[in-house]
Amino acid sequence: MNHSKSYEVWLITGSQHLYGEETLKKVESNSIEVAAGLAGAIKSPAKLVFKSVLTTSEAIKNICLEANNSEECLGLIAWMHTFSPAKMWITGLNILSKPYAHLHTQFNRDIPWKEIDMDFMNLNQSAHGGREFGFINARMGIDRKVIVGHWKDNEVIRELEVWIRAAIGRQELSHLKIARFGDNMRDVAVTEGNKVSAEIQFGISVHGFGVGDLAEYVNEVSEKSIDSLINEYKDQYLYESSAFSSSDQLKAIKEDARIELGMKTFLDEGNFKAFTTTFEDLHGLMQLPGLAVQRLMQQGYGFGAEGDWKTAALVRSLKAMSEELPGGSSFMEDYTYHLDPANMKVLGAHMLEICPSIASEKPSLEVHPLSIGGKDDPARLVFKAPPGEALNVSLMDMGNRFRLLINKVEVVDTPDLPKLPVARVLWEPKPNLKVAAGAWILAGGAHHTAFTQSLSTNHMLDLAEMLGIECLLIDENTRLYDFKKEIRLNEVYYHIANGIR
Ligand code: MN
Repeated sequence: MNHSKSYEVWLITGSQHLYGEETLKKVESNSIEVAAGLAGAIKSPAKLVFKSVLTTSEAIKNICLEANNSEECLGLIAWMHTFSPAKMWITGLNILSKPYAHLHTQFNRDIPWKEIDMDFMNLNQSAHGGREFGFINARMGIDRKVIVGHWKDNEVIRELEVWIRAAIGRQELSHLKIARFGDNMRDVAVTEGNKVSAEIQFGISVHGFGVGDLAEYVNEVSEKSIDSLINEYKDQYLYESSAFSSSDQLKAIKEDARIELGMKTFLDEGNFKAFTTTFEDLHGLMQLPGLAVQRLMQQGYGFGAEGDWKTAALVRSLKAMSEELPGGSSFMEDYTYHLDPANMKVLGAHMLEICPSIASEKPSLEVHPLSIGGKDDPARLVFKAPPGEALNVSLMDMGNRFRLLINKVEVVDTPDLPKLPVARVLWEPKPNLKVAAGAWILAGGAHHTAFTQSLSTNHMLDLAEMLGIECLLIDENTRLYDFKKEIRLNEVYYHIANGIR
């Protein structure tokens, strides 16, 4: 994954001076043990670091400032081992700009029925200390994750892992630069949106470029570097012998290699971790980038077709969140339906640009006409995704807010499609296509999505909460009656919550 910083999450422990030195020492040594236990059990790309026991407003403010300023710090995990009078937390929480989770745990798992005495009661006070902390957060109206259970419990560990990965997604968006080659596909509505609002809400910045700017980089690529990339293709993919012997096909593959190398240099020089293209604006390029886009996505760049910068941002954040997890993530589009009432499914694909990180098999490198756009035949990788659980996630600009829409789906095996030369995924949406597509349409969900087989709905719910955006979930429990009601209630909530901004 091409990110530049190492990640950390900080454990902080709330307490107070009232208990005396000895108890505070115990609180600290317990905290160090909890931090070490969590660090050993949590599997994530972030390092868990114990910071300190906090007993004054000044110390809490300072740790929050430090977290805000740290490029490594994803967020805080707060634990109230004892009672920590929460007025002390107001100043710090007011200025904290990173997400935090309230870990409502206690050092001991079980009550030591025979040994419990007043000293024990004075030390192990999470049961009421956590409530005092909860009150001030609720009173201040702060969104945060509350995780309840013993710190060695697997469920607690899994919840923390999910939260940490969501924090990686948030952090990634907070400084994401997106290169937009060409503009929006003309007249398409959902791929548009307010880029200023997006920068305020997420931190992402969208930088428009004429395709000629990219073509300059593509034209500068040397024949030697193209030849060595072609050898890489031969190693990594299946291909017909004609692919590298027919001069037309070889020309197309070389052209995509040239675009891949030029595009990568362009993106890396500008520190862009996501990009968009549009087949309506390819001036100076011989063809729509297919293979090039697929391979760059696999290297971790976010992508959206037809100028879709919101989906490009989403794909990038999902890739960052799912680092080291099995499965892949890709740009996706609901392409065509199978509407047999007994067996309704969606065939997902795009013209070319599906990420091979979701391939269940060695991709096949092929050259075919695009039948749209009037350019040369592009090369592309053809493959299918493995069966199993997946998500389709979409981000829309609703005018007064951003809406994240999630649909849980079950990928099923795709029959052979000998005449369709694109990467494809076949899925059954939850709870079924009829309800899922109905809900998706009612929510204004885009035709473009970020598709993932690495992340769960919980990752996305945590991410949406950290980003402070609306989130709608379509899963096995969705009923259209309730879903419509939720949309209506959200209209009122966001109208009021956003005030007059
Ligand atoms: Mn599209």
